[in-house]
Amino acid sequence: MSANAESSAYRGRFAPSPTGPLHFGSLVAAVGSFADARARGGDWLLRIEDLDRPRERPGAADDILYTLAAFGLTWDGAILRQSARGWAYAQALEQLIHAGLVYPCGCTRAEIATSARRGPEGPIYPGTCRHGLPPGRTPRSIRLRADSPRIDFTDRIQGPRSQRIDHDVGDFVLRRADGIHAYQLAVVVDDAAQGITDIVRGADLLLSTPRQILLQRHLGLRQPRYAHLPLAIDTDGRKLSKSLSALPVDASNPVPTLLAAWRFLGQQAPPTRATDITDFWRWARGRWRLDRVPALQHRSPTQATAWPPDTGPRHGRAGQPR
Ligand code: GLU
Repeated sequence: MSANAESSAYRGRFAPSPTGPLHFGSLVAAVGSFADARARGGDWLLRIEDLDRPRERPGAADDILYTLAAFGLTWDGAILRQSARGWAYAQALEQLIHAGLVYPCGCTRAEIATSARRGPEGPIYPGTCRHGLPPGRTPRSIRLRADSPRIDFTDRIQGPRSQRIDHDVGDFVLRRADGIHAYQLAVVVDDAAQGITDIVRGADLLLSTPRQILLQRHLGLRQPRYAHLPLAIDTDGRKLSKSLSALPVDASNPVPTLLAAWRFLGQQAPPTRATDITDFWRWARGRWRLDRVPALQHRSPTQATAWPPDTGPRHGRAGQPR
């Protein structure tokens, strides 16, 4: 049974993947998690999720750090980089192997796609290798047996949530065929290693949360509290970060975009227009109200404010479309 995070000092985090520069959607997650941590007198830690080397963009991690600093989002302590943590994920996987909770799988994505039922998160693994590799197959990935009861949790923004992982997701991958540990495993191991009590992040990860809670239970780790922020979508309904219109945020002129993110999160705008980041955060610090964040999973920034904000002439690389 995992203890809850109720009794300990607040520790939040932001965990960007360095696959490109920070865009409005990821800035919203950074601002929401930072403001919630600071409002509770908590620490805010940073983790670079550079596990998936093939998807990484050279220079993106530095660019993200630079942009966070320009927006006044100052983190506490050392930055954790997932690329240096393979040993910790391997150790956690060992623990699950010893407990008999995982099995090797020889199926390719293409094979699964043709035989699987589709769930809310993609194809549901049909369990082909669950009782042993069929003759002639070689192991590719490692999967967790999802013989789980229903996972229930209460999200601080989205309210009570419930999922049957076996029904909606199926046995899921913990180590991929290319040898890379899966996000679901790494995030759970790292949140525990960083002593995170509160996870505030985008609602695109709401459906991942039950898998993470299941892994926390299997590994005997503490379950943090969760709050999933609405995702910024563009007017076509696509997640902003996936659309062509996702411009990197302009680190050379952060105030207008910061105000746009603040309003997007349902927060009251400052009475007089903040002129610099320090003034803004001095004003905003005690005014963050999580109960004002709309309990939507998707929201167009234009519902909250004009987007892109009118920031005057755009300069330099940050103004170029990706
Ligand atoms: N690295 C993930 C992303 O950039 C976020 C992971 C998390 O917050 O749990 O989407």
